[in-house]
Amino acid sequence: MTDKLTLTDAEWRERLTPEQYQILRHGGTERAFTGKYESNKAPGMYLCAGCGTPLFSSETKYNSGSGWPSYTSPVAADAVDEHVDHSHGMVRTEVRCATCEGHLGHVFPDGPGPDGLRYCINSASLDFKPKD
Ligand code: FE
Repeated sequence: MTDKLTLTDAEWRERLTPEQYQILRHGGTERAFTGKYESNKAPGMYLCAGCGTPLFSSETKYNSGSGWPSYTSPVAADAVDEHVDHSHGMVRTEVRCATCEGHLGHVFPDGPGPDGLRYCINSASLDFKPKD
């Protein structure tokens, strides 16, 4: 069980940059190939930019060519929640942080790993913590 983090809209605005706020709290998407972690290959952990929960390990990160950080799995199955997303005339599976419900990105069934999944995540939703 994860402890939930619930803040008011004003508190989120104060805590996040305008870009983080738009993406995490309003389901926005950064433009492809513009995010700060898209080509990051350093070993470490990607935390939720909203609440600091570890979400994705560099060990599952791969170059998908999509323009967004891509992972084959979250670091723990219960770290993220998945929701059906009907926006923009598509049916996609939205990925949110299970702790703060921040929007992270989407998961697609075309990944290279044993589960065949591609977690396509906005850099703005993440904070990278390099391995010591
Ligand atoms: Fe979070």
